[in-house]
Amino acid sequence: MEYESMKVDHWFEVTDVVEFNLKIMVCHCKPPLEGRMGCGAKCLNRMLNIECVQGTCPCGELCSNQQFQKRRYAKLKWFWCGKKGYGLQAHEYITEGQFLIEYVGENIDACVKGNLGRFINHSCNPNCPTEKWMVNGEVCVGLFALRDIKKGEEVTFDYNYVRVFGAA
Ligand SMILES: [Zn+2]
Ligand SMILES: [Zn+2]
Repeated sequence: MEYESMKVDHWFEVTDVVEFNLKIMVCHCKPPLEGRMGCGAKCLNRMLNIECVQGTCPCGELCSNQQFQKRRYAKLKWFWCGKKGYGLQAHEYITEGQFLIEYVGENIDACVKGNLGRFINHSCNPNCPTEKWMVNGEVCVGLFALRDIKKGEEVTFDYNYVRVFGAA
């Protein structure tokens, strides 16, 4: 009996450490000067593809590394593009490296979630490759612009990549 309770204690300890590591990654950024956003290219979390956790980032409200959590999506809209069915196009000028949208897969109803990601078409030469990010301890897949994209241009991604590495 004694042995069993020890095992349970140990299990809790390990879980606590894992949870802590996954959920609270605090970067060493300094709060930015007035009128600027913090957690730019040199943010430790950003470099590791981890989003800062709201409430723990030293930059507070000025943290720019919470794009999934704050849903900082680019302006996109779906359109009918003939044989391919629906596609997604840029509704504003998108600059290189910009976060476009979270990709949540096809099993989630676009109307309910309001996620346009499911309308996006696959291309072998995509202008918006996918990236995996850690957001509050969960793996999320987002689309990021490979280059500048003009308003009205179709946005494409590499669907096989998401399938191989798992989006859901
Ligand atoms: Zn930071
Ligand atoms: Zn931050």
